[in-house]
Amino acid sequence: MSSQINSVPMLDLKRQFKVIGEEMNDALRRVNETGQFVLGPEVKKLEEGIAAYSKTKRAVGCASGSDALLLALMAIKAGEGDEIIAPSFTFFATASCIPRVGADVVFADIDPVTFCLNPEDVRKKLTKKTKAIIVVHLFGQAADMRAFQEIANDYQKKYGRKLYLIEDSAQAIGAELEGIQVGNWGDASCVSFYPTKNLGGAGDGGMVLSNDDEIADRVLLLRGHGMSPRYYHKEIGINSRLDSYQAAILNVKLPYLDSWSNSRNANAARYEELFAKAGLQEKIVTPVKVGNRRHVWNQYTIRVLNGRRDALRAYLLEKKVGVDIYYPLGLHQQECFAYLGYKPEALPETLKAANEVLALPIFPELLPEEQQYLVDCVSAFYK
Ligand SMILES: *Cc1c(COP(=O)(O)O)cnc(C)c1O
Repeated sequence: MSSQINSVPMLDLKRQFKVIGEEMNDALRRVNETGQFVLGPEVKKLEEGIAAYSKTKRAVGCASGSDALLLALMAIKAGEGDEIIAPSFTFFATASCIPRVGADVVFADIDPVTFCLNPEDVRKKLTKKTKAIIVVHLFGQAADMRAFQEIANDYQKKYGRKLYLIEDSAQAIGAELEGIQVGNWGDASCVSFYPTKNLGGAGDGGMVLSNDDEIADRVLLLRGHGMSPRYYHKEIGINSRLDSYQAAILNVKLPYLDSWSNSRNANAARYEELFAKAGLQEKIVTPVKVGNRRHVWNQYTIRVLNGRRDALRAYLLEKKVGVDIYYPLGLHQQECFAYLGYKPEALPETLKAANEVLALPIFPELLPEEQQYLVDCVSAFYK
């Protein structure tokens, strides 16, 4: 075992603060001095900065990634009588926005290699009522957006109606497919600035990106109670404004994002090497980066084979190695979605993933020695 290291955190934001803490504090002081705490110049700067970074035409800040998804569905006027297809193997907010607008949730299965939505299964679930597909770039890798664009084109031809593609990019800011960033593949893309995301604030925050002015304008209207001009309400929106503190912190962090993504990639490559050396191929499957994609590794998710996942997790936690399970259940297995009537086996790859996945620490400041300690612990578990 490596000598000094005897624990590894799942995520340690204090290490990031050590480097940019002064800048963060200065930014917050500036906000205090302006006395403007909601929206304002910091939010405008962030919206412009994220749009430039993502190469999308527009970006509209809001209160969270969950709200970004809700606002995107409101913007495309999804509602009663519409069906929206979403993965079941994802964070809850991907799907909870659907019943919130009165539409029907239809779950589809994942591709076992990437953990992202499986286009083949989505095709089987299209009906004349399908209004949109919510595609999640899970764990930081872009989903197969080419295939989803084809599905949307075929749908338009068959039904003479637009099928919207909503990207859930909460875990994937900066990820690319064929050199094109997420956010440019669908009609709208939803970003989260929750602190554990690759670009995280000091609280909640989110954004909707779009290359479609009509959608972006609607999000802008709807995030502020449908109000335009002041105290004249065109429609019933929500209060989902981004606050200036969050934007100020994120404006400090944005210039570092690519170097952090590169560090995450280096950490992923090191795990790959360490696990290969440890000879654990029959026991563990390391995550796959698809050739034409830029992965940004919000999570490094292995599969633990032979039903040993929970035992390995318990062992690692006992060795003070932070690991976590994203996600222990498919959404189709959640109590609140029982009314949809899905059996667990209805989405076999989702069920299998939920039983096998284990996320390991991958944050940018993670040390090589910590990765070595973790892999040594995994080896010791199997000895
Ligand atoms: C985090 C996350 C969200 C929600 O973002 P919040 O900012 O926490 O509301 C939505 N979808 C996915 C896939 C996420 O990981």
